Amino acid sequence: MSEQMLKKEIKNLTIEELKAELKEMGEKPFRAGQIFQWLHQPVSSFDEMTNLSKDLRTRLAERFILTVPVCVRKQVSQVDGTRKYLWQMQGGDCVESVLMKYEHGNTVCVSTQVGCRMGCKFCASGLFGLKRHLSAGEILDEVLFIQKDSGEPVSNIVLMGTGEPLDNYDNVLRFLHLVSCPEGIQIGQRHISLSTSGLADRIERLAKEKLQITLSISLHAPDDESRVSIMPVDKRYPVARLMEACNYYFDTTGRRISYEYMMAKDKTDRIWQAEKLAALLRGRPAHVNLIPLNPVKESPLQPSSPQAVRRFQQALERHGITATVRRRLGPDIDAACGQLRRRTLEEGETE
Ligand code: SAH
Ligand code: SF4
Repeated sequence: MSEQMLKKEIKNLTIEELKAELKEMGEKPFRAGQIFQWLHQPVSSFDEMTNLSKDLRTRLAERFILTVPVCVRKQVSQVDGTRKYLWQMQGGDCVESVLMKYEHGNTVCVSTQVGCRMGCKFCASGLFGLKRHLSAGEILDEVLFIQKDSGEPVSNIVLMGTGEPLDNYDNVLRFLHLVSCPEGIQIGQRHISLSTSGLADRIERLAKEKLQITLSISLHAPDDESRVSIMPVDKRYPVARLMEACNYYFDTTGRRISYEYMMAKDKTDRIWQAEKLAALLRGRPAHVNLIPLNPVKESPLQPSSPQAVRRFQQALERHGITATVRRRLGPDIDAACGQLRRRTLEEGETE
């Protein structure tokens, strides 16, 4: 094994772990606070940590890896200012993240894996399968380096880029702690949403962590027949099992769950499906986001018409369920998750 592989990525460490490392190195523990502050800024080398001695910087560089993503592609929407980034991580893998501008602040959508193994039929991210998990520090890097590049403060984070966050559970949890901790950039957990395709046992495990984040479930169909045909994960965790986990999550955390529902023509947009969805959610505080499908060329699925979306929304409302239709951001760029990486992979530019 090469020396590089044995080194730890320093950005993965919590402040307590950093203190322990420094103690081992014979350093004063208070240095941990200084170093941690630097690590949560977009620095590109230990030499930028100017309040540390040259000797300490050299020893840190010998002992740790400092991950620095390189922006290999960027698209800025002329319509609404949405910015999409393709980052090359250490080792050459590429991941994408998006900065979205809303009235209530800037939101960064981060990827949690290189690729994804869940195989949803409508998703460009899963086309090449899973290459690897991202580390906690690499996910943090997406936020830090977007702040640096755009010069915009980030107030919200959504884990809705490439990857299934709960398939990379430990690293994602560590990221959530790092990004919200008081010594770092302090994005409050209430300003973070995690979206999952529905790994029921992991949802229950997450519930026990008692985080303040918003859980968002990619439901997309209320019946197993339709759902399994577009989301293979439904075979392992059918709708009833998933809803059991969601109920447990709400009972344990008291946090309202948000449901993503993709509108695919003649597949998920039928009125009986709105009624079935309403029946599933009845009695629990829930919010439904209706998302018009973003067509990918490998899939025959087509978006529902605006009329069908409206009819579906009205049917939900008649049954007492509020639903919002999500506005598409960055309509002039490849803003749907996985599309920029996919296009770049196809063009063979970076890998
Ligand atoms: N893996 C997680 C989070 C990343 S995907 C999940 O599946 O929830 C983020 C969201 O984008 C999910 O709700 C996903 O279903 C949705 N999505 C993926 N491809 C899409 C497409 N072509 N059109 C509309 N929504 C899509
Ligand atoms: Fe993976 Fe989410 Fe895409 Fe499904 S929708 S393949 S879970 S990234």
